[in-house]
Amino acid sequence: MSEVLSTCCYCGVGCGVIIETDEQRITGVRGDPAHPANFGRLCTKGATLHLTADSTARALYPELRRSHAAPRERVDWDSALDYAADKFAKVIREHGPDSVAFYISGQLLTEDYYVFNKTVTLRGLQAGVANSP
Ligand code: SF4
Repeated sequence: MSEVLSTCCYCGVGCGVIIETDEQRITGVRGDPAHPANFGRLCTKGATLHLTADSTARALYPELRRSHAAPRERVDWDSALDYAADKFAKVIREHGPDSVAFYISGQLLTEDYYVFNKTVTLRGLQAGVANSP
């Protein structure tokens, strides 16, 4: 087993984490007591960060559920993105641009923010963008 120092990717606080690994997979995450942002503490999201590294629980391809009662079905990326874009456009048409907001990570790089905001603005969404704390 080994440990790697890193930063929680979930929000702008940027807590220091110690990632435990058995060299094949991440086995645990705990707060870094020496990190000035959190002094060893983690919120629930950070404390369960290792669970997101379980590749068997990850979505590997897009799926759609066309109604609440319907089962999910595998679709190609173009179909999934067109479906999502149509849904956003419909909501905005019916309720205005303030009806859509995006919740993104405070750990994005400046370039990521730029691309994201350009994409949202170019689509005419003028959507609200918020980060977790
Ligand atoms: S999500 Fe929680 S653990 Fe992660 S950086 Fe933010 S406050 Fe820290």
